[in-house]
Amino acid sequence: METEVVIDVLCPSCRSPVAPTAEICPKCGAMLGGSTSTWMPPSDNRAALQSLLDHRGLLLLVLFGATAGLGLPLLWKSRVFSRSAKILLSIALCVYTALIFYLFWRVMSWSLASIRDSLG
Ligand SMILES: [Zn+2]
Repeated sequence: METEVVIDVLCPSCRSPVAPTAEICPKCGAMLGGSTSTWMPPSDNRAALQSLLDHRGLLLLVLFGATAGLGLPLLWKSRVFSRSAKILLSIALCVYTALIFYLFWRVMSWSLASIRDSLG
């Protein structure tokens, strides 16, 4: 009667079944080295994002250099700023975003006036 539980662990180089505890494949001699050591946790990207959020200078650079008001959720997810600092930074970001839209509107209305002048 067969009592041994067969667990399908395949050698990565020759695809032959090997014992889960084996360190070297008995067929081709490839180093197995334990399958858990090469497994990468799926939270890697999230950890990278969190380390960005926890970097004061880098986060401010992203907020004021790229995302402006759209980056508010990033600011509030960060753990390096205090609550009062986040409120102040949110106000600053809103003013900054409004300034960008104001400048954009000024450029657009100037451009439209120029186009209208050249057409008429
Ligand atoms: Zn092998």
